Amino acid sequence: MLSVKEAESIVLNLAQPLDSQQDVETVDLLAASGRILAAPVTGSLDFPYWDNSAMDGYAVRFTDVENCSAEKPAVLEIVEEIPAGYPPQITVQSGQAARIFTGAMMPDGADTVVMQEDTRREGDRIFILVSPEKPQAFVRHKGAFYQAGTPLLTPGTVINAPEIAVLATAQCIQVPVYRRVRVAIFSTGDELISPEQPLASGKLVDSNQYALTVLLAQMGCEVIRLGIIPDNENALKKAIAQAVLTADLVLSTGGVSVGDYDYIEQILADLQGKVHISSVAIKPGKPLTVATFKRDKQASTSPILSSDCLYFGLPGNPVSALVCCWRFVVPALRKIAGLGADAWGPEFVTARCHAELRSHGKRETYVWGKLHLVAGVWEFEPASGSQNSANLINLAHTTGLAVLSASETRISPGEFVEVLKVS
Ligand code: AMP
Ligand code: MG
Repeated sequence: MLSVKEAESIVLNLAQPLDSQQDVETVDLLAASGRILAAPVTGSLDFPYWDNSAMDGYAVRFTDVENCSAEKPAVLEIVEEIPAGYPPQITVQSGQAARIFTGAMMPDGADTVVMQEDTRREGDRIFILVSPEKPQAFVRHKGAFYQAGTPLLTPGTVINAPEIAVLATAQCIQVPVYRRVRVAIFSTGDELISPEQPLASGKLVDSNQYALTVLLAQMGCEVIRLGIIPDNENALKKAIAQAVLTADLVLSTGGVSVGDYDYIEQILADLQGKVHISSVAIKPGKPLTVATFKRDKQASTSPILSSDCLYFGLPGNPVSALVCCWRFVVPALRKIAGLGADAWGPEFVTARCHAELRSHGKRETYVWGKLHLVAGVWEFEPASGSQNSANLINLAHTTGLAVLSASETRISPGEFVEVLKVS
């Protein structure tokens, strides 16, 4: 059985990033929200676009106002008023000033802005009561924040509000982003029904499909839902064969354990999948199965899919399925999606335990619960009730998974523990 670390490294090696040439689409600025930049963006405009005032005040020549004071003000003639958005018309000469507002273009001749609060106005004359600290005071210079032609945003950047502002400012209104990762999901089990079906004796609602759909959608994936597949070899074979042709990554739940109706691993092999992982020393989640499929380009129904398909056979128990997803699938998806290695995760924090954590030892154990940041220290509160992999009820509100290593059986209240951040 592989350790969690070994499994993680195998999974990350198998996950291949989308292609920065083929797997790119161009979207409108606002549609780029949450997407990942696929190509470098270089602006053709300096920013600020032109010298402009950082204050409401007066544009002056520094040499006219240096050494002035309230007792010995410099007195200047106001020759123009420059609101934001209008180009100046007049060159400021010695002895002159232009009334100027924040964001307005600096007029020729002036090199400094004196803020309004440091002046007194009398008709068309302005009295400068405080000498500016230095020439260029309160002037935002053209190109001070960004020079045209230099790199603006690099590939792998997630486009959120600040990046949208940058792209808008650079007038980059068509944005090259990676296409969404296509993930096919299905659930296996004769016992499964959908939430709207009447509950017959012995049946169970397929919660996994809903949980995974939401997790994947929140990650920006395109989710292809293939429904519930019965514990029937032919039906499973058909579903898997279809899934690996239509998606970059496939997630199935159930059927990977050692029961008589657990067919997945055998079918993966029958369909020429290469099985890389068939169990991991993790609790919950031991039967995790990972395979790859070489893509037969001729047979593919989708010409846009390029690299091989990565298949995760997740255990059926709802907590096991999600723990495996958070620990292994999410980092793989981030790599495939085009994020840089520093963003693949998983993200761990060190937290102080509120209550005792227990494990049987032997397998790396993940205890679910809530993470709180209290006065700068992370605290972990395990979910109350049973830590049973079928107990999806107390999984609600989970924000962290505390990790007990394979050799640890107990962590006392007040001790520190590594916690995987999840959301
Ligand atoms: P399996 O891995 O197929 O042996 O399933 C393990 C346990 O998880 C069984 O109790 C199943 O009923 C349950 N289970 C399997 N698939 C799902 C699902 N999609 N949603 C909720 N529970 C499931
Ligand atoms: Mg099953």
